[in-house]
Amino acid sequence: MITFSSVQPTTATQTPATTSAAAVASLIPHHNSHPHQLSFSSFAPHHPHSHRRRRPLSVRAIDAAQPYDYEAHLVHRFTQSTKLKIAVVGFGNFGQFLAKAFVRQGHTVYAHSRSNYHSIAQSIGAAFFSDLHDLCEQHPDVILICTSILSTETVLKAIPLQRLRRNTLFVDVLSVKEFPKNIFLQVLPNHFDILCTHPMFGPESGKHSWQNLPFVFDKVRIGNEDSRVSRVETFLDVFKKEGCTMVEMTCTEHDKYAAGSQFITHTMGRILEKLQLESTPINTRGYETLLNLVENTASDSFDLYYGLFMYNKNAMEQLERLDLAFESLKKELFGHLHEVLRKQLFGKSEESGFRRPMLSKLPKNGTPLLPPQSENGTPLLPAKSESLGDNGNLG
Ligand code: NAP
Repeated sequence: MITFSSVQPTTATQTPATTSAAAVASLIPHHNSHPHQLSFSSFAPHHPHSHRRRRPLSVRAIDAAQPYDYEAHLVHRFTQSTKLKIAVVGFGNFGQFLAKAFVRQGHTVYAHSRSNYHSIAQSIGAAFFSDLHDLCEQHPDVILICTSILSTETVLKAIPLQRLRRNTLFVDVLSVKEFPKNIFLQVLPNHFDILCTHPMFGPESGKHSWQNLPFVFDKVRIGNEDSRVSRVETFLDVFKKEGCTMVEMTCTEHDKYAAGSQFITHTMGRILEKLQLESTPINTRGYETLLNLVENTASDSFDLYYGLFMYNKNAMEQLERLDLAFESLKKELFGHLHEVLRKQLFGKSEESGFRRPMLSKLPKNGTPLLPPQSENGTPLLPAKSESLGDNGNLG
């Protein structure tokens, strides 16, 4: 049924089908030329002396005969408006892992890397561009920096920014956060948006599911326009939809927490890896956990681990704490042993005189590192210079 706005309203005989068409049609902004609104004013002869202003004749009904796939088209256009074109720069281990999720959720993925990953990209459903200029000319909504921490600055500076849309969103997933934030702010002109993120999982720990895994983000610089705000939300939605626990915090806070947790985890994993632990017929649950830890951390590149140390200013303190904790533990063990030996050597004769040193725990993270004190207040640990050999190895 076609109705004309100057003749009668449109609601008279709507069927359920036309009502649902109306619902979908309402998704289209009004200023767009409405497919049902045909203005006939240009066809009407205009009489120069006519006093009556003609109202343009327009078709307002939404149940006019439409192409058979009209609703499907509308739904498709609506769906597309929630999809992003994401350019993954750095298509290594982690870049590919993320790209699979983006493709799975219907986003368009472009990839670029130093090495040629053409066929891997193709198998994932992404388009690979070996030239950054070609990639940028696709005008992605998001540039996702997924390179090693160490190469980030060089890679970012090589991107031909002039070929991108002016408000493109830059995102990074580096495992340290203050460093990329500062680089982004230095290198990217003000008209680009910046979101710093860290998915707290990797291809190993997130291979089955991302459910309840933390995803840290900091909206460093996002323009006020609705489209820019909603683009960030659409990007974050990828991780929400996979079930991640979304944690908004500053890059500074992230680096403090990460040094005391992630860096320690990776360090312990790498120490254990050096021990070449092997599975035994009598593995305890705890030992299985250690084997898993080695598997989880050793599969990451050394560049990644080195980046955690070099580009997080809190990492050095954590390494020193580990050192002190190990020294302290050894002293406690040797203290016990010493006592047993003395008992064997001297019997009960000096029982009342000798007191085994009680070693306290290290102060909590963030408090200055002081050597543990004995009961009478004297330091039990030698000063650092005494406990380490000349070359920094444990003495
Ligand atoms: P990675 O060793 O940290 O980075 C490998 C990526 O960096 C590859 O795409 C590699 O490109 C690129 N790259 C390395 N050196 C380069 C250079 N000189 N010039 C240009 N590109 C260079 O390993 P990753 O696991 O894939 O991690 C990528 C990023 O994700 C890192 O920033 C990491 O901190 C972060 N992240 C990783 C995990 C994880 O579990 N793996 C989790 C969260 C965040 P080519 O492959 O083309 O050589």
